[in-house]
Amino acid sequence: MDSAFRLKLLRIKAGNILSLEIIEKIQKLKAQRNAVILAHNYQPGEIQDISDYSGDSLGLSVEAAGTRADVIVFCGVRFMAETAAILSPDKKVLLPELHAGCPMADMINAEELIKLKAEHPDALVVCYVNSTAEVKAESDYCCTSGNAVELVASLPADRKILFVPDQHLGRFVADRTGRDIILWPGYCSTHVSITVEDVAAAKQKHPGALVMAHPECPRSVCDIVDELLSTAQMLKFAKKSDAKSFIIATEIGIIHTLRKQNPDKEFFAATERAVCPDMKKISLEKVLWSLEEMKYRITIDPEVASRAKASLDRMIEVLPK
Ligand code: SF4
Repeated sequence: MDSAFRLKLLRIKAGNILSLEIIEKIQKLKAQRNAVILAHNYQPGEIQDISDYSGDSLGLSVEAAGTRADVIVFCGVRFMAETAAILSPDKKVLLPELHAGCPMADMINAEELIKLKAEHPDALVVCYVNSTAEVKAESDYCCTSGNAVELVASLPADRKILFVPDQHLGRFVADRTGRDIILWPGYCSTHVSITVEDVAAAKQKHPGALVMAHPECPRSVCDIVDELLSTAQMLKFAKKSDAKSFIIATEIGIIHTLRKQNPDKEFFAATERAVCPDMKKISLEKVLWSLEEMKYRITIDPEVASRAKASLDRMIEVLPK
């Protein structure tokens, strides 16, 4: 066991012998299977602690594609594991909980998007990475919350844009770019549960704290915060900022990483209600079981995967950084 891993162990529930036993078994099997464990920023803290990489969904998939691992255990939700499978067709991608889905990604399917495209034949389709492989396959460009503004701004000015599935991220992009965007009425139930009242109460409780919110939040919340940032941008911003305390308006899992990376700063949730139930379906026991049984393997129909990859590649072409 290397020293970095020993340190991680010490951070995990000191005194919880059962967890430590599970973690040691995970590490052993991970080596035997030549696997990497990826954890999204919204995962429970103990899952982020045992992961090889934690981050946002696309960043993790790109990281995984570059490793020599044969197996990717994706601790996140289904569309993330699908994206990893699209970008790493030669690797086995496992999702430790089959029912960890994203309600927002499921708010539009390929048939609905095909119908929408037929109603707006001249429009370009931009899909948020939080979408199914089938929806990505029907899109011209994929984007993340971190690059959506830059990507849309780079598209030909005379083209309308269909943005799916998140209406809030789409509206944020329209505001920032001034582009004519047709929005699909999807939303993230975790982010829309964060209210103006929550943010106002948190500001009153923590005067002087800088408020960072995710653009999946409703407009009323976006209008009263200091910074609108993706999770990856929040992590960078918190490190660089001179501010010493922050209120976080996104899924509360990210606060674990923010605190770990900035021990001299304080982070407070805008509301403890901002919990994604699907993200929290992954546990240490399920990660171990996943490696033992090599389940649940996520595979994508090759024709769908190839078209979905094209929308991801077009994003990377437009935004080479
Ligand atoms: S936080 Fe929202 S967008 Fe992210 S996985 Fe959960 S439901 Fe989907």
